[in-house]
Amino acid sequence: MSTHSPSHGRELAPETITVAAGRPPRTADAPLNAPITLASTYVAGGEMEYGRYGNPTWQAFEETLGQLEGGSCLVYASGLAAVAACLELVPDGGVVAASRHAYLGSLGQLAELEKAGRLSVRLVDIDDTKAVRSACVGADLLWIESPTNPAMEVADLPAVCAAAREAGAISVCDNTFATPLLQRPIDHGADLVLHSVTKFLAGHSDVLMGALVCARDDHYERLESRRRMIGALPGPFETWLALRGVRTVHLRVQRSSANAAELARRLRDHPAIERVRYPGLADDPGHARAGAQMSDYGGVLAVEVRGGAEAADAFTRRTALWVHATSLGGVESTLERRRRWPGEIASIPENLVRLSVGIEDVEDLWRDLEQALSG
Ligand SMILES: *Cc1c(COP(=O)(O)O)cnc(C)c1O
Repeated sequence: MSTHSPSHGRELAPETITVAAGRPPRTADAPLNAPITLASTYVAGGEMEYGRYGNPTWQAFEETLGQLEGGSCLVYASGLAAVAACLELVPDGGVVAASRHAYLGSLGQLAELEKAGRLSVRLVDIDDTKAVRSACVGADLLWIESPTNPAMEVADLPAVCAAAREAGAISVCDNTFATPLLQRPIDHGADLVLHSVTKFLAGHSDVLMGALVCARDDHYERLESRRRMIGALPGPFETWLALRGVRTVHLRVQRSSANAAELARRLRDHPAIERVRYPGLADDPGHARAGAQMSDYGGVLAVEVRGGAEAADAFTRRTALWVHATSLGGVESTLERRRRWPGEIASIPENLVRLSVGIEDVEDLWRDLEQALSG
């Protein structure tokens, strides 16, 4: 599918790309939105041929996210399908240096591949640039998350991407927490950007989808031909919903970030809270780095609740507006104690509750947290 090009040859602001990219050509009576194309096959002789090879609704999404991140985009059935695709770039017997704190499913895939003898893993504190630099020596791929889920550490993106490049390793940055509105890893030297589109990009807790954005054509070509073969694809309806979400992601991320910053300040002074992890706080260890490479600090924060796992669980049960649920990045505020999941790594404190801040009124959100903490 060809799409309309709205740029006059100039680079558009990301807030305009979210709205304007991936639209059909402007012919009379054309729809403004890319239609949901339900097709398993196409008339022979064109570029797509079969539904596993291409879909116009994917193309509209891929063009939009590709422009936002500054690379070539491929959609997948989920964030973890994109993780699996990416790890296939590692040769047999290869080495992956990976952030110790990262999405538990990404670390779970690495652990299983290591157990099966497919590759070996070096876990490293991603905010310790010196340690990352040594872990990259002899590695084939560097797995970066920043800010990390759910520890909220911030990597020095230009430095760690350069370390990977010098070592001849592919650098992959999971940009799910920040979104391209707040952080563009390819500008900082990353080879690949990964998204759980499920989260902020789609934004309404109603769709599972993933994406990779490639800075290099050879990676794009390998991944695209592999995707045809494996078939971990999103349905056209999911892709359409995700693109509809992307149209407002800049406004949602802006509001979530503003709410999160205000709540982080108030929670820090609350007697029931031991520690707040949010790079937007001036005394957070990641504050200076985040300020240098992000345009805002995002809508996710973590708190450590006084009184251990039990007090943290009680807190998550007592909210009325905030939903006790896993996942993040929706319009509605959610919270959960991460260690309730057996797969969550033991260096995440038992009493850590991750908050995904939505776009509601901040005073309503605060009142609900206050009553839940004092209950
Ligand atoms: C949720 C998440 C994933 C996995 O994505 P799914 O869409 O659930 O498969 C990967 N990375 C991060 C940072 C996530 O939050």
